[in-house]
Amino acid sequence: MDIFKPLDLSRDSHNTEDPSIERVHCLIIGSGPAGYTAAIYAARANLKPVLYTGLQMGGQLTTTTDVENFPGYPDGITGPGMMEDFKKQAERFGTEIRFGIATNADFSDKLLRVTFDENNIIEADTVIIATGATARYLGLEAESRYAGMGVSACATCDGFFYKGKDVAVVGGGDTAAEEATYLAGLCRKVYLIVRRNELRASKAMQEKVLNNPKIDILWEHQTVDLFGENGVEGAVLVKKKGTPEEEIVKIKIDGFFLAIGHTPNSDVFKVFLETDVTGYIKTIPGTTKTTIPGVFAAGDVQDPVYRQAVTAAGSGCMAAIDAERYLSECLNNTL
Ligand code: NDP
Repeated sequence: MDIFKPLDLSRDSHNTEDPSIERVHCLIIGSGPAGYTAAIYAARANLKPVLYTGLQMGGQLTTTTDVENFPGYPDGITGPGMMEDFKKQAERFGTEIRFGIATNADFSDKLLRVTFDENNIIEADTVIIATGATARYLGLEAESRYAGMGVSACATCDGFFYKGKDVAVVGGGDTAAEEATYLAGLCRKVYLIVRRNELRASKAMQEKVLNNPKIDILWEHQTVDLFGENGVEGAVLVKKKGTPEEEIVKIKIDGFFLAIGHTPNSDVFKVFLETDVTGYIKTIPGTTKTTIPGVFAAGDVQDPVYRQAVTAAGSGCMAAIDAERYLSECLNNTL
């Protein structure tokens, strides 16, 4: 088998049997912190990476306003600005960045195949999946209206802007409990809007929420609208919806945080890769290796716990190193 020789395989190489199929050494899917960091490391290791951006170039951070917790930016930076920096750095070392959405994958052979935009097939020696996760929203028109103006799906990213103010968190799971607790450390008051009369969060997290005097739990409440002139000033809720005691409740808030779960963007790869019940790609602990040799996963698509730009970037670096070592081992085995 000579698929790994030579390591400086030119980018315009093609499958010998089907010249319409392009072959690359390192294919990176996703353009968030994980994807771009993987690209920087892979390019510097001469893997000549080709990166497909996905629909939202720059990933979830492009929907955030200011990023103040990424090391290296002492004065903070806008989310889109930071992702532009990541992109420039990846390009500087020769990453080829293309717009395209992975629509199919076939990892049944040693040469890994991913199809973009339904008809563009790429054959790769290594694939780094960094497709991220998408925060779930309630589906209210008001969520789009106030995007970046009081509506957020990341308390760790945006909570600081609500210091001393009143905010609401929607959800009853561990994320909601964690975010409400985090926000209670910054804000004057935190409403936790829970649709049932119990929390799904772990007992330990429940204790924290229930014992925090700054957190006011609104049991059996559902949000139906947000209001405000130039940003969120309040929310309209329905208490005990569908029961004889149903009533409309209005709360005054400056920030509205969604914490009703994330959906990892792993659907295309699920046939071949092991995922957990939510769809997060499973990796071998301490590495970015998936169950398929040569396929690596980095960033939010494999991380249900931390989900931070800096941890995603770190795992992107790990994925490129894992890919480079995998290629070297394969090359050594063929010599
Ligand atoms: P979960 O799926 O666990 O919880 C989602 C919560 O949002 C539930 O309370 C659910 O309500 C509520 N919800 C869903 N849809 C709506 C809706 N349309 N309107 C109102 N409420 C809604 O997601 P999490 O993100 O909290 O957690 C995901 C996983 O990550 C879990 O396994 C969790 O344990 C883990 N995690 C672990 C952490 C840690 O260990 N430190 C931190 C954060 C997460 P209902 O209960 O009624 O279904």
